[in-house]
Amino acid sequence: MSIQTNLESIKSTLPANVTLVAVSKTWPVEDLIEAYNAGQRVFGENKIQEMAAKYEQMPNDSEWHMIGHVQTNKVKYMAPFVSLIHSIDSLKLLAEVNKQAQKNNRVINCLLQMHIAQEETKFGLDEDELNAILASDEFKAMKNIKITGLMGMATFTSNKEQVKQEFCYLKSVFDKIAAQPETLNFKPEILSMGMSDDYRWAISCGSNMVRIGSSIFGNR
Ligand SMILES: *Cc1c(COP(=O)(O)O)cnc(C)c1O
Repeated sequence: MSIQTNLESIKSTLPANVTLVAVSKTWPVEDLIEAYNAGQRVFGENKIQEMAAKYEQMPNDSEWHMIGHVQTNKVKYMAPFVSLIHSIDSLKLLAEVNKQAQKNNRVINCLLQMHIAQEETKFGLDEDELNAILASDEFKAMKNIKITGLMGMATFTSNKEQVKQEFCYLKSVFDKIAAQPETLNFKPEILSMGMSDDYRWAISCGSNMVRIGSSIFGNR
């Protein structure tokens, strides 16, 4: 199977409102070009330096999403070009993104990453931490970021009921914040959930952005 065939077969199953992020981490630029030539523009990476190197080599109308854990001291390397950061898990990190975005005269769109899985190792906020960030004066004063939604990863398990329960829980949290008034830096529209093995279940729970790697590019 080629990258083009894989992309086409995935896209044919996605509802029109669902954005496909092609997770290209670890794959060489030649493979990204193949996806680009098949019409894919949105790429997801989990390492900032790798993303910056690929950004330099890929056509200008490619879009770059950071989906992995972000260290504050590396935000500056992606601030000039990143189009969406999925993995904001603290006010401190958000403040650094705001600062670096300001230096670049930009507003950077961000998702808050929620912890919905049972595994301890997965990063993310719980609902109280989410609400505390959104209610804070520090967040309200940030002019160079915009919270455009939430991201989450389900437990790595073949138990469909458990995965669906976690995704549908995240959808319910999303619906609550989406009911809050919009502000200059708060406009929740995106619910990023679902990977190669579980995106169908995520979509059935209301995901509108899926992050798919191995089903497009192969096993890493
Ligand atoms: C790697 C990764 C994906 C894609 O995983 P696949 O199983 O290859 O589709 C999605 N989201 C995040 C956060 C990842 O790190």
